[in-house]
Amino acid sequence: MSARPSDWPPPWSPSEAIRPPTDPADERIEVGFLVVGAGPAGLAAAIRLGQLMEEDPATAERLGEVPVAVLEKGKAPGSHLLSGAVVNPRGLKRLFGDRKRIDELPFYGPVEGESVLFLTKGRAVRIPTPPTMVNHRNYVASLSQLGRFLAEEAESLGVTVLPETAAETLLVDGGRVVGVRTGDRGRGRNGEELPNFEPGSDVTARVTILCEGTQGHLTGAALDRFGLRGESPQVWALGVKEVWRVPKPLRQVVHTMGWPLRAGRKYREFGGSFIYPMGDDMVTIGMVVGLDYRDAEVSVHDLLQELKTHPRVRAILEGGERVQWGAKTIPEGGLVAFPRRFHAPGLLLCGDGVGFVNVPALKGIHYAIESGRLAAEAAWRTLERGVSARAALATYDDSIRSSFIWDDLREVRNMRQAFGRGFYLGGALAGAMTVTKGRFPPGDSRTEPDAEQPLFTTDRAQSYPSPDGQLTFDKLSSVFASGNRTRDDQPNHIRVQTKVPRDLALAWARMCPAQVYEVGDADGHDAAGNETVEVKLAPSNCVQCGAITAKGGRLTPPEGGSGPEYTLT
Ligand SMILES: Cc1cc2nc3c(=O)[nH]c(=O)nc-3n(C[C@H](O)[C@H](O)[C@H](O)COP(=O)(O)OP(=O)(O)OC[C@H]3O[C@@H](n4cnc5c(N)ncnc54)[C@H](O)[C@@H]3O)c2cc1C
Ligand code: SF4
Repeated sequence: MSARPSDWPPPWSPSEAIRPPTDPADERIEVGFLVVGAGPAGLAAAIRLGQLMEEDPATAERLGEVPVAVLEKGKAPGSHLLSGAVVNPRGLKRLFGDRKRIDELPFYGPVEGESVLFLTKGRAVRIPTPPTMVNHRNYVASLSQLGRFLAEEAESLGVTVLPETAAETLLVDGGRVVGVRTGDRGRGRNGEELPNFEPGSDVTARVTILCEGTQGHLTGAALDRFGLRGESPQVWALGVKEVWRVPKPLRQVVHTMGWPLRAGRKYREFGGSFIYPMGDDMVTIGMVVGLDYRDAEVSVHDLLQELKTHPRVRAILEGGERVQWGAKTIPEGGLVAFPRRFHAPGLLLCGDGVGFVNVPALKGIHYAIESGRLAAEAAWRTLERGVSARAALATYDDSIRSSFIWDDLREVRNMRQAFGRGFYLGGALAGAMTVTKGRFPPGDSRTEPDAEQPLFTTDRAQSYPSPDGQLTFDKLSSVFASGNRTRDDQPNHIRVQTKVPRDLALAWARMCPAQVYEVGDADGHDAAGNETVEVKLAPSNCVQCGAITAKGGRLTPPEGGSGPEYTLT
């Protein structure tokens, strides 16, 4: 019998991520508004709150000594940010208005040209650009660099940005979110206190805005605690990307479909690649694959290595050098997987955490920014006299529903699901959805949880190229290229069962781009007669991409400041 990841749930419960404050009241850190996550959503929320404070200093006075704080688990703002990234400037224009011109933003430049290629193993055929993938008037950026820029903007408006600080627990008191507890630092592998031990703190606020991005730890717990989950489950893709210094400039953004993914319906391999220019001497190349795939031998890291051996792609990188590598998941469920509401008492939810991503367009940054801006305005309304906090926060849902986020994602709401029916049929259905602007099919197609897809094993891995250290790389050298310097003796932050069927252990080992899992020795049989094996873990390799949460385990926030240290992704 084939294994399903969902049959081996992680030893973790959402209640571990939620509890009342424990620090005595006079030892809690009180802030006005608390933002969790310094990504585009969180920093847009912080900047908008900063602008509102500037416009209305008398009201801002009521927020206390720290009116707005942003907690970020990465070493610095931008350290954990990774994207393509071709940015639709719409969100940034609405955030900054006439306060900033486009040429003041850290972009590599406008998209000058684009092509979409259908690949077979040795050939590339240019196909017409699907309307959802047109990038005219968009700009190329590194999200990590954009994040650093936005954090400086927020700080210049009076916002306190606290890097190296993981929000570990959502504080709920009397049915209302009152803040978060930050994680301890300086614990050893078995949880013991090391000489540099620093306990976490309760940070309380009148409103907490969760902007944790994909696989948000507290966001997921809040969706369960407040009964917010929608009818369809969220699904994810894993993106693995590299930044290269190259001798020849690339003048256009390139997307590819087809090889090295397999088209057959039974494989459920949905995805493609992107290759974007970053100025005259760098390019970024990435592979994105839906995590509903079924072959335990699929490894997105190795598919990216294989893609680079294609003659058309190799020609772009020839004579160049890889300078950075990283990985992250993308929520792909779209509108049908949205939560029922985007707020709860004391809480607002933004960005990738609630799935504001347009999959056919591979865009989420401008939706994250717009949702952060709208959340800030709803949070600020709680300061208006005569308006209840509950009514003020409810306006956030109304603003999201009348925003371009809703309109755009409504049109493409069934596209991702269509590709579960194979590449060719999915492509034809997606075409019909584009032409009718989402009116066909009239209803909503349900998503199916990634972890419920049964696994099988082929010999797919045999055709991944051997690493040569120049064009193709192994996973450990990739982790090194992410800047990850996590100490080996930290507590394990990955929750998975460690005695599982061989297919599942193999699937985790192949899936993880950072070589965290190793398939150990045989260790008996499960109730269905499958051979079980031991799973061994090297958690300090983890780049916090989130894939394990989609495929049967649970990523919890590790010690603040650990993980990758991206600068160009
Ligand atoms: C490979 C890939 C390619 C993409 N390409 C594009 C593209 O070309 N264009 C586009 O528009 N979009 C693209 N996207 C999507 C886009 O990157 C996301 O939609 C966007 O980054 C979401 O922003 P966010 O602020 O919601 O989350 P994120 O960007 O993920 O930021 C979340 C931040 O919160 C921090 N955080 C999370 N949890 C905690 C916690 N508990 N405590 C403290 N800090 C925490 C994280 O460290 C991170 O810094 C791509 C995504 C990927 C993975
Ligand atoms: S262990 Fe870390 S890097 Fe590996 S799949 Fe899980 S979250 Fe991603």
